Amino acid sequence: MAKQPAEHIWFNGEIKPWQEATVHVMSHAIHYGSSVFEGVRAYKTPDKGTCVFRLQEHTRRLFDSAKVYRMTIPFSVEEINNATLEIIRKNKLQSAYIRPIAFYGDIGMGLQVPFGQEAEVTIAAFEWGAYLGEEAIKNGVDAGISSWNRLAANTMPTGAKAGGNYLSSQLISMEARRHGYGEGIALDVNGYISEGAGENIFIVRNGVVTTTPKTAAILPGITRDTVMTLLRDMGYEVREENIAREAMYLADEVFMCGTAAEVTPVRSVDGIAVGHGGRGPITEKVQDKFFGLFNGTTEDKWNWLTPVYD
Ligand code: PMP
Repeated sequence: MAKQPAEHIWFNGEIKPWQEATVHVMSHAIHYGSSVFEGVRAYKTPDKGTCVFRLQEHTRRLFDSAKVYRMTIPFSVEEINNATLEIIRKNKLQSAYIRPIAFYGDIGMGLQVPFGQEAEVTIAAFEWGAYLGEEAIKNGVDAGISSWNRLAANTMPTGAKAGGNYLSSQLISMEARRHGYGEGIALDVNGYISEGAGENIFIVRNGVVTTTPKTAAILPGITRDTVMTLLRDMGYEVREENIAREAMYLADEVFMCGTAAEVTPVRSVDGIAVGHGGRGPITEKVQDKFFGLFNGTTEDKWNWLTPVYD
């Protein structure tokens, strides 16, 4: 058993001890990857206490992912939102990484899921620090372009956050680490930049910020949307355009973002220094705005924070 990171897990409407929140070995999701999930974070803020960041958007995406796979989640959006808050409280967490997942359990072998089959739903919440490390947040990661491409359009939908998609992410991330990189970045099947193993990508050149479009086999991240909103709010021009591989080498700044990775600078790509080889000034500004939402220096104009404790 991995180190138990919290006491309780929300499981199909009940609170269970962590050790008892188990599934059968014949669960459909284990054999066929039939799950959809979210990664959500809660931060301790000075004014509103512990708050979940963009809870509505994450729950919406969970239901959207389920819809793509014709999966029935036997709870309402409101019930999942409330359950998310409840499991943080139950575990008495000040900050948290939250993992809601809907999956098919022991419904029998075979790919065909019976029409109307309900998914099981669990929500775990536990403390989790910077995914790529605190050091990377300040100084950046060394990234490498993967020999694995992202999924082609009309093979598996990357816009749905489904368990099976993460076999692609694992190949990208394992290859990167084997080559000594902190993270891997994949191209789409057309040869343009897609995304990191679990992060969206931004580049900056001459003060203009560009991120890869939704059609470049990405998961359109909620952090990506946050960063675009914050940058535009600061007056920067943000484009969604195809990014060629060499544009990463020639960028003044590159950064990646995601719920787990937050906003992390990329200091080199394929061993070529990005800009001066560290965190760039616009990256630092957007990091300050992003983390400012949680330390009280950025006003939450968008109502992105949902308080956990009254
Ligand atoms: N792409 C992939 C493949 C991811 O797994 C994630 C993390 N969920 C992201 C992008 C970033 O998405 P978000 O900002 O919503 O966490």
